[in-house]
Amino acid sequence: MNLQLALLEKAAHENRLAHLLLFHGGSALHQREVALRLAQILNCSQPTPEGPCQECYACHKIISGNHPDVLWLKPLKTTIGIEQVLVWQQKVYFKHYEGNYKVSVIEQADSVTLPAANALLKVIEEPPERTVIILCAQNAERILPTIQSRAQLVYFPDLTEENWLTGLGEADQQEAARAFRLSGKNQNLATAILEHGVSLLQEWLERFRIAVEERDFLKLYALFPINKNQAVLYLQVMAVQAREGIFKGTIRPFELLAIGKATDVLRQQVNPRLVIEVLALELFQQGGALCD
Ligand SMILES: [Zn+2]
Repeated sequence: MNLQLALLEKAAHENRLAHLLLFHGGSALHQREVALRLAQILNCSQPTPEGPCQECYACHKIISGNHPDVLWLKPLKTTIGIEQVLVWQQKVYFKHYEGNYKVSVIEQADSVTLPAANALLKVIEEPPERTVIILCAQNAERILPTIQSRAQLVYFPDLTEENWLTGLGEADQQEAARAFRLSGKNQNLATAILEHGVSLLQEWLERFRIAVEERDFLKLYALFPINKNQAVLYLQVMAVQAREGIFKGTIRPFELLAIGKATDVLRQQVNPRLVIEVLALELFQQGGALCD
């Protein structure tokens, strides 16, 4: 465990943890594990300086996801909306059921919509007693500055490819290494690529590239249907390739901008097919081609 995480645990053990933490970088899984452990330390009936006991009622309930004072908020589909935050807000202000601390873990906090972020901000500004909110995000820059500035930032370093592969255990190592490279060393993206299937993803991207290069609408039509999660994944990998392409001088920056814009639009609950088609059209017009 790195020093920063050890200090966090110590602060939790001594009941002086910050009310708002922002975890960023590294893997979502690692962030989740640390959040769970902090929730346990804060609520364990017999914690030691080494950590939670893992045996008491609270420790068990937290690990199984059933502790009423440990609240999880994560995207429904692709965003965390205002309705979700309002429901969560009620639970936060409700009296503590059985725990010492009410701990809320907001996963993929960079997917909170603007109205939801404003509702969240209200809670952050006037948190009830003994409340800890942990925001988990890949990129801290995507969190509303007014929220970010109130949080203690906790950076999770990236693992190396080697560590990532070791941690995967059963997975096909060659396949995993391909996913890792395609992700631009982003573990969350690499995991998503692996779950989706590396070949399937590469094949789709190649067909998209050819359709754009040949400005061929029929080839574009053949790329659908895809669902929203797939579309987000494809756009993320395209963005990685575009970034690498700009670095090598084979891609012009507008392509990355167009991909970024498409990703933002897609997160706002729009038809994925429409978004991809608009992106392709933009690339047609600019005469661009996505190469790798
Ligand atoms: Zn315990």
